Amino acid sequence: MTMEYNVDENGYYGTFGGAYIPEILYANVETLRNNYLNIISEEGFQKELDTLMRDYVGRPSPLYYARRLSEKYGAKIYLKREDLNHTGAHKINNTLGQILLARRMGKTRIIAETGAGQHGVATATVCALMNMQCIVYMGETDIRRQHLNVQKMQMLGAEVRSVTSGNKTLKDATNEAIRDWCCNPSDTYYIIGSTVGPHPYPDMVARLQSIISREIKRQLFSQQGRDYPDYLVACVGGGSNAAGTFYEYLRDDRVKLVAAEAAGLGIDTDQSAATIHLGRKGIIHGSRTLVMQTEDGQITEPYSISAGLDYPGIGPLHAHLAATHRAEVLAVTDRQAVDAAFELTRLEGIIPALESAHALAALGCKKFRPEEVVVVTVSGRGDKDMETYVKLFNR
Ligand SMILES: *Cc1c(COP(=O)(O)O)cnc(C)c1O
Repeated sequence: MTMEYNVDENGYYGTFGGAYIPEILYANVETLRNNYLNIISEEGFQKELDTLMRDYVGRPSPLYYARRLSEKYGAKIYLKREDLNHTGAHKINNTLGQILLARRMGKTRIIAETGAGQHGVATATVCALMNMQCIVYMGETDIRRQHLNVQKMQMLGAEVRSVTSGNKTLKDATNEAIRDWCCNPSDTYYIIGSTVGPHPYPDMVARLQSIISREIKRQLFSQQGRDYPDYLVACVGGGSNAAGTFYEYLRDDRVKLVAAEAAGLGIDTDQSAATIHLGRKGIIHGSRTLVMQTEDGQITEPYSISAGLDYPGIGPLHAHLAATHRAEVLAVTDRQAVDAAFELTRLEGIIPALESAHALAALGCKKFRPEEVVVVTVSGRGDKDMETYVKLFNR
């Protein structure tokens, strides 16, 4: 088994990844594959992205030493504050990079899929900024559940297209976006929201999110006198905030990687989204990875209290990190995540997104030594989850 964690020239991480796409998309994906590395390494591209990251997104996001949380868990705990970014999460790092790429490839029409609406809002935001047409596919069920995000996208000028096939959630919205891309290959660019999909998307999204770990390196060095932690902890839906958090440290054995996936009501129930624990090899949205599926290969509907973690697949990088035991993967239940969210709120005055709360809950599953340095990525803020929190708070 390969212990190489960067993608190979065929788009694989070990046995995971690749590009399993319909013939009609071949030219699109091939053009992207041939151009993405050159474009994102261009000096002009880097300059424009750096400036926008600083002045528009508000980067670098702080690395905050959480004193009371550190006392509680008996280690030096730092929080990487992606929740303080414009639009409230790490997703903007990716959408900003991809829209600059789309513009340089001469595309004029942007499409995206969204589940909870967070990626849809981040995409609609950069489309407004760049004056590009924006169409977001969203399941009918999710549209009902996430009305505020639908209104934000519309106010930003995007068209939200309701998807009524299947379970009317993220997986179905993704299928519909792929169908649109098939029909409009020449003018349309598809902004995928996580480290999923056919190669080169997982690698491209990981690179665009890797700014998180580059900043951690610098910030740890200036605050702690060494540029690496003992532990890095992040939640995993498709895997983009975790990929960004781990990226610079993938080959650094001094650093233990911990990924928290959503167990929902528990991995021994049928209400779970713990793909790495429960999935088997299969193909989903153009990638060979772990997939939650029935005996005969039907993709099963995942469940988590957090809308951003209930994807029935997982990015191929994370499937590989788990298979090679480079990362430890914890399955965190709804209950553990909610408790961790209330704990952070009361100890540090930070209300995290429900997704990020899964990463925070991992702290309670580990035993640390007092001198150990732990960095937890807070992928987003909790504003969008207030209804859920209030309901639970008053129970
Ligand atoms: C979308 C989202 C996630 C999950 O996506 P990844 O690609 O796994 O990072 C996690 N946290 C927040 C706040 C999100 O919006």
